[in-house]
Amino acid sequence: MPRDPRYDVLFEPLKIGPKTLRNRFYQVPHCIGAGSNLPGFQAAHRSMKAEGGWAAMNTEYCSIHPESDDTHRLSARIWDEGDVRNLRAMTQEVHKYGALAGIEMWYGGSHAPCMESRATPRGPSQYASEFETLTYCKEMDLDDIRDVQHFYVEAALRARDAGFDIVYVYGAHSYLPLQFLSPYYNKRTDGYGGSLENRARFWLETLEKVRRAVGSDCAIATRFAVDTLYGSGGVEVEKDGMKFVEMADPLVDLWDVDVGDIAEWGEDAGPSRFYLQGHQVPWTRFIKQVSKKPVLGVGRFTDPEKMTEIVTKGYADIIGAARPSIADPFLPKKIEEGRVDDVRVCIGCNVCISRWEIGGPPMICTQNATAGEEYRRGWHPEKFEESKSDDSVLVVGAGPSGSECARVLMQRGYTVHLVDSAEKIGGHLNSVVTLPGLGEWGYHRDYRETQITRLLKKNRQSQLALGVKPLSAADVLDYGAEKVVIATGAHWVGDGTNCLTHDPIPGADASQCDQLTPEQVVAGKKPIGKRVVILNADTYFMAPSLAEKLAAAGHEVTIVSGVHLANYMHFTLEYPNMMRRLHELHVTELGDHFASRIEKGHIEIYNIWGDGSRRTYKGAGQLPREANRTHRWLEFDSLVLVTGRRSNDTLYREIKAKQDQWESKGVKAVYLIGDAEAPRLIADATFTGHRLAREIEEANAQYPLPYKREVAVWGTPHMPEGTYQIIYKK
Ligand code: ADP
Ligand code: SF4
Repeated sequence: MPRDPRYDVLFEPLKIGPKTLRNRFYQVPHCIGAGSNLPGFQAAHRSMKAEGGWAAMNTEYCSIHPESDDTHRLSARIWDEGDVRNLRAMTQEVHKYGALAGIEMWYGGSHAPCMESRATPRGPSQYASEFETLTYCKEMDLDDIRDVQHFYVEAALRARDAGFDIVYVYGAHSYLPLQFLSPYYNKRTDGYGGSLENRARFWLETLEKVRRAVGSDCAIATRFAVDTLYGSGGVEVEKDGMKFVEMADPLVDLWDVDVGDIAEWGEDAGPSRFYLQGHQVPWTRFIKQVSKKPVLGVGRFTDPEKMTEIVTKGYADIIGAARPSIADPFLPKKIEEGRVDDVRVCIGCNVCISRWEIGGPPMICTQNATAGEEYRRGWHPEKFEESKSDDSVLVVGAGPSGSECARVLMQRGYTVHLVDSAEKIGGHLNSVVTLPGLGEWGYHRDYRETQITRLLKKNRQSQLALGVKPLSAADVLDYGAEKVVIATGAHWVGDGTNCLTHDPIPGADASQCDQLTPEQVVAGKKPIGKRVVILNADTYFMAPSLAEKLAAAGHEVTIVSGVHLANYMHFTLEYPNMMRRLHELHVTELGDHFASRIEKGHIEIYNIWGDGSRRTYKGAGQLPREANRTHRWLEFDSLVLVTGRRSNDTLYREIKAKQDQWESKGVKAVYLIGDAEAPRLIADATFTGHRLAREIEEANAQYPLPYKREVAVWGTPHMPEGTYQIIYKK
């Protein structure tokens, strides 16, 4: 199908300095956990998007010098010839598909902890980072300013040698150039502090020097948080933001604009829980009013209509995207080919970001199980190996793992029967999406539903059976399929079993009328009283989501939490606004508390640190610490148990127990995937289904094939000889 002519404007080429973008789809810099350490991963991930039609692919933030070292997280680096070689793999692969490659040159100032290099970061004034633990910078004198500007120039020259077309001076997310610009960081009284002209000087001089060094070969981009969202204490778009753009415009070929800072960078990479597509436009739209250069903006753009509106209304010239390009590397191609329904829409969960925030490569994606697996497993998001056998496959359970497994098996040409007792594809996601702010997570289900419906039309032997009676072990063995995949999911326990005590809590029992599991809250069939206690031992979204839902409905909610409430939401950048939301709704949190027993209408809680700080050996049967005397009773009308999950693996274990019948029933293998194997993130459940579908012919397909590891191997040179040098001074 040809593309819808309404979207033609998105496919118009655009000149940026000496280079030309082939269309308006631009992968902005974003972290994947590859950096320059894993060149295969870096090259394969970025070039997949080049193949999928994006006009430019950028590295993640790329350190220009050991003084800007973000270890424990993983950035790219362009410190030396080794990095040049590794990043050249990316530029070469991206160029093969006719796209441009960009590098985001990064100097972090006080936000760079330098845990590997042990260097001292330099900044405009001395302050402790509000983002990074125990990190201060050295206040720069004029020599320091020249040195650091020289680092940018040297790095830009190396970037050009590595084949980059676009060279950034990165000033968003509160990194060095913005630290000079913003009075929040810059307290100087010399020519680099005070007035806007002075605060802008470092950035302008750096742009000028980089431009002089590589500007005829590379386009010069700058990434600018046009509003730091602190009011007059930082950068405000209609004040310093627009004025700075006017000052720097002659030195820039491309403006990449966003909002926010690093400590709360979820204001930029806005999770769908809080922000809709295009949420930054009210700030970034001002830039086109003052710049004569191409401007790109971001905001989880996945809808071509919205993208077209952004360009035609003159809010931006280019659609920048990180997450939409991860969830669907072929988004531009699908729009171009009139296949918008095939787009795997980013659900805005920020699980991709979470892995980088934790510090562990690779990035993963909830929607796209192949993200991060392009090189090491050789997976292509749109291409699948043809089936290697005529075996038919029964998949029991159409949640994230089962539906993904069935989809990929059908893509491969297998005859698949996907069976679920529920009326709808989606499994537990169907209740998760009813929680406040999580509606967009339903795109995960919708994508699989659309694809499976389409594949069923082509593959007439396959079948989708919903709303059936739950399958028993005998049903499964008599079904007639050669291979069976069990994807029956998990449930929240009703007896209080938890990660702290590893046991049930005496008196916890969700069959009682005043106690509920999360599923029971969502189902809405049990009455819930005015005073609700949520007992929590889970570190993700369930407890705060239920608290929000119930408090918004008028209940008085107290969360008793034995673990750091919503800790994982720090990594998905949802934490700050989640906490603001609970505060707005007057939800009370009793942190560091858990429960020892439950009786009708009240719960005995205790401070988890109340058992004494000293230990002594007191003999067998005696606790080595003082007894905890902090126990007290708390009253409730309803108690919600968010204490832990358990796999629904009974069906699998029953089938396993009948293994002696498999051969006579024609069953060759039975596999267990998703939450039924172990409760996990939706991204990981999806991955297990996808992986099994790709490897189902393997002798022991329950367990993954090894993947390619990119590691330094002892006895081989770690760096091209004679080229290792890091320049400190001009
Ligand atoms: P996952 O996240 O691993 O995909 P979910 O809990 O989301 O798991 O989905 C599991 C699905 O399996 C649910 O839709 C549930 O209705 C279905 N299911 C569980 N047991 C059976 C069974 N015995 N027969 C048919 N469907 C089942
Ligand atoms: Fe989008 Fe979530 Fe995938 Fe990130 S992990 S790209 S937010 S779907």
